[in-house]
Amino acid sequence: MKKNTQFNTKVIHGGQENIDPAYGSVMPPIYQTSTYSQTTPGGHKGFEYSRSGNPTRTALENSLASIENGNYGLAFGSGLAAIDAVLKLLKPGDEVISTNDLYGGSYRLFTQVFKDFGITFHFIGMSNAAAIEDYVNADTKLIWVETPTNPMMNIIDIKAVAAIAKKHDVMLGVDNTFATPYLQQPLDLGADLVMHSATKYIGGHSDLVMGALIVKDKELADRLYFIQNASGAVCGPMDSFLALRGIKTLHVRVQRHCENGKAVANFLKDHPKVDKVYWPGFEDHPNHDIAKSQMNDFGGMVSFTTKGGTLQSAVDLVEKLEVFTLAESLGGVESLAGHPASMTHASIPKEEREKTGVVDSLIRLSVGIEAEDDLIRDLNQALG
Ligand SMILES: *Cc1c(COP(=O)(O)O)cnc(C)c1O
Repeated sequence: MKKNTQFNTKVIHGGQENIDPAYGSVMPPIYQTSTYSQTTPGGHKGFEYSRSGNPTRTALENSLASIENGNYGLAFGSGLAAIDAVLKLLKPGDEVISTNDLYGGSYRLFTQVFKDFGITFHFIGMSNAAAIEDYVNADTKLIWVETPTNPMMNIIDIKAVAAIAKKHDVMLGVDNTFATPYLQQPLDLGADLVMHSATKYIGGHSDLVMGALIVKDKELADRLYFIQNASGAVCGPMDSFLALRGIKTLHVRVQRHCENGKAVANFLKDHPKVDKVYWPGFEDHPNHDIAKSQMNDFGGMVSFTTKGGTLQSAVDLVEKLEVFTLAESLGGVESLAGHPASMTHASIPKEEREKTGVVDSLIRLSVGIEAEDDLIRDLNQALG
């Protein structure tokens, strides 16, 4: 694939050259096998054992590298397995600086698994990137950024953080799950590593759990590949196939997610019972200008609170929704509603999460690609 090939072509063809030399199938075969015959010890055709490598997974990994403008892609059994692999690059005594409104599962992995291995985590607000510099010291090895953040839709200036990371020779990883590579390409903005929960928009159909890492640098890719193989949290061939199929429509899906997200955000903003609406497309969003410069559009994730809302009123509202499904997760074709305080962010202590705005009445929407009018009518009846 040529360097200047556009994104909408890459999602379909990127990394997919000569995918099936045997029969020329257009989609890669699902190599549902654990092992590969050898003619003599070590005499194989590039694959020995499916933890180390599987042709369907390789096809997916090449596609992931292509759509994120990286050189190497690695696919894992879940998004958290991918982050787990990144943290295994570290050693006891190392320090990590991360955003303070992080995906709850990432926070749990950091504070309840890796903290016990002697790694120190600093969770800070990063809406002003310069604030990071106060926490950098000689032991800092990783800055971990999520933007837009989950569920508060804060925007972090990736270029500005990358400049700080570069200055201090610290690795910068960006969880690009919410934005997707269609909207934001962190490697081009100076990040060293991009991570996805491919469970979400990449897969796009709520039918798999998967994670991904994409990097440019060969040495970093080699270290991560070693961990992927040594720790073994790989994804299977069937899921690799499904994720590849999802990627082929990523651009059209996300375009519609953005259109519907905008319509829903504007509807909520004008509704008399709604208090705050969190969506980076609003001109009065604190980092709207940064969102505009580093993203191609504003995505389909919208969070909101109601006036005088309580835990009970939020629960009542999500239970009344009919087109939106009450469920964890996001990024699928169907619209989902979640209650972060009791669902995705329940593992973060109440006082910690309320500091960042995850109050009891907050509702998070993953706006799907159904008809816009049906989504708005549904929200309207649930609010009424
Ligand atoms: C879901 C999610 C993860 C974790 O991914 P899994 O595939 O569920 O393990 C990490 N980061 C973000 C932003 C997510 O939404």
